[in-house]
Amino acid sequence: MRSQPLFLVQNGPNPSTQFVPYPNYDHYESIPGGIRTTVLMARERSLVKRVGQKVPSRAGGELRVGIGDDAAVLRLRGANDWVVTTDAFLEGVHFLAAHPPRMIGYKALARATSDIAAMGALPRYFFLNLAIPTSRAGNWLDEFLRGMAQAAVRFGLVLAGGDTTKYPRIALNLTVLGEVKAGRAVLRSGARPGDLIGVSGRLGEAEFGLRLFQQGLHKRRKEVRNLLRKHLRPEPRLALGQWLAGTGLASAMIDISDGLSTDLAHLCEASGVGAQIWVEKIPAVRIPAELQRLRMDPLRMALDCGDDYELLFTVPRRRAPRLPKRFRGIPLTIIGEVCREKTLSLLELRGRSRPLHPRGWDPFRKRPGGRTNSF
Ligand SMILES: [Mg+2]
Repeated sequence: MRSQPLFLVQNGPNPSTQFVPYPNYDHYESIPGGIRTTVLMARERSLVKRVGQKVPSRAGGELRVGIGDDAAVLRLRGANDWVVTTDAFLEGVHFLAAHPPRMIGYKALARATSDIAAMGALPRYFFLNLAIPTSRAGNWLDEFLRGMAQAAVRFGLVLAGGDTTKYPRIALNLTVLGEVKAGRAVLRSGARPGDLIGVSGRLGEAEFGLRLFQQGLHKRRKEVRNLLRKHLRPEPRLALGQWLAGTGLASAMIDISDGLSTDLAHLCEASGVGAQIWVEKIPAVRIPAELQRLRMDPLRMALDCGDDYELLFTVPRRRAPRLPKRFRGIPLTIIGEVCREKTLSLLELRGRSRPLHPRGWDPFRKRPGGRTNSF
């Protein structure tokens, strides 16, 4: 399918004779300068319609009015709290234009929904602000919406509203609403000295997948494809987050989007505590023997690289025996303990201790070579 321009190009020398292909319509519209605004609005409306057709967006339940009006109307009642999070996803900062559009659509929603998982809430509705260049309004947008729809269906989300506009690069902003039993949302601030620190999954896998992608190794082996999945299609740990909240096992929780060292620092700061991490216990990415030559440091990637969207949580020591080794196939590992002294340290089995500095993703910090965390 040919890429269709969404928006009218600037008026030419004789605007009244300018013709522009009109998306979702089978004919060409003449755009005299005088009625351009009307047509531009119609174009945006057709884009909104297209988004609404692709991504689950039917109003119902608490969502009294969904997409298509000035604002969504939510009638919230009952014994639940609502959690709301917002998340930017920008070309050149969080992803590259070269990434598959379906992955961009899926991942944009997955990473925003990960914050809902970290509160222990159930995802319900989302709002999408979408800015794209005209050149992305055809196939690219279809594929993007397909990825976003897959994520929405998987996470149980309904699109409730948003905005669309033209911009020279791809820029997304997502707002996600989730629901949790009143008072049961797990905050970053609940960790207490003596609590044990747990983490889900393996850390550093997303970074490893990114590097495979950058080196063009992603098409080769099944094993590599699995490692790439964490980079291209991260899964917010929704069921785990809800379980940790529902059972009251977690005293504090955060999702690992910026890297263990940085997200642990966020959690400790909010709780007014410190932490000691046992190096040997960190479930770092396993690098297959045939890729050892790439000389990647699994521990560094686990500590300082983001995008894993695993959960980092604390558990009061007396409740820790109730924590299983796995939750629905996802490994759960105790990696350290919360301490009163407000410092972060790494403890080796031999007993040597060193400070743990937050060196994860920070968009405002310059990295060698100007590399961002995601890319
Ligand atoms: Mg978060």
